[in-house]
Amino acid sequence: MPRRLSTSSPAETEAAGAELAAGLAPGDAVLVEGELGAGKTTFVRGACRELGVDGVVTSPTFTIGQRYRGRVPVSHVDLFRVSDLEGEDPDLLADYLGPDAVAFVEWPETGVEAIAGLARIAARVRIEHAGGDRREVWIQRAGAGRREVRTR
Ligand code: ADP
Ligand code: MG
Repeated sequence: MPRRLSTSSPAETEAAGAELAAGLAPGDAVLVEGELGAGKTTFVRGACRELGVDGVVTSPTFTIGQRYRGRVPVSHVDLFRVSDLEGEDPDLLADYLGPDAVAFVEWPETGVEAIAGLARIAARVRIEHAGGDRREVWIQRAGAGRREVRTR
């Protein structure tokens, strides 16, 4: 069962990201779903801070992703503009996802299979608007019996 949190501010959503990130290791990928403005990047920012990333964390605009230097390498991918990953260069995601980095993927829907081929899907996060500054944050960590998760 996914865990549901209610947050009332960006800081609380960042804290939720930080809490999840504390349990991640290189090779892990986190899928972050939710509509525009839900707070995906905010969640990822909190996770990045926990992983030792300083500086600006925003959704990449001109590329599908960016890599940050934290205590471990961290990747941040946003597939919003990629409607069909099949038609793209197969190595596109490999620049960001792999055994060396902890990766966060916004708008992962088009690329879940490709992501799973490159990294361990450690958690799925879904963020929904709940009025004003409130958000519902659903966190499903990979665990026993999760068939879409590859163990290595
Ligand atoms: P996304 O990446 O899902 O498009 P962003 O994280 O970039 O969303 O933006 C979320 C926006 O909503 C920011 O402007 C943020 O300040 C605002 N916001 C208000 N309340 C919250 C909350 N509880 N959690 C996250 N963001 C919030
Ligand atoms: Mg975003």
